[in-house]
Amino acid sequence: MDLKQLEKLHQAATGLLGDWWQDDRRNWCAYCGIPMLKRAPQGAPQPPTLATRDHVIPKAHHGGLLTIPSCKACNAAKGTMSVPEYLESENFKIRRQNKHKHQWPEYALWAVAGIAALKRASVLASTNALPRLKTAADRASAPNPTANRIR
Ligand SMILES: [Zn+2]
Repeated sequence: MDLKQLEKLHQAATGLLGDWWQDDRRNWCAYCGIPMLKRAPQGAPQPPTLATRDHVIPKAHHGGLLTIPSCKACNAAKGTMSVPEYLESENFKIRRQNKHKHQWPEYALWAVAGIAALKRASVLASTNALPRLKTAADRASAPNPTANRIR
């Protein structure tokens, strides 16, 4: 597997979900589905329904490349968890209880986690001089090092 193959996988996966920042999905929290406020009222504390960008892989885990719409309350509840960690948390279950129709299905949140992981892998492959990872096809065509061993 090389950088081009990783980028191809990332683009294909991204194409399946589209760009939520370019359509109306940006108006509701992906996690709990509530309609979000675009701006906090002047002079008031930030409301829990304020729109934020949640980092699918937290900045603390070298993510920060992919964000999804999240209300301030869900973003705070997720904290420094990655999406898979958050999906397994009590906080997530509590915040999903109202089953708002605009909350993203759990499979879509997992798909976003996969896209973020592919993006991170592409970045690493492009910046690190790591050895190329062998694919299943490479392994099948490689000679078996133990096949000709003399006993
Ligand atoms: Zn929310």
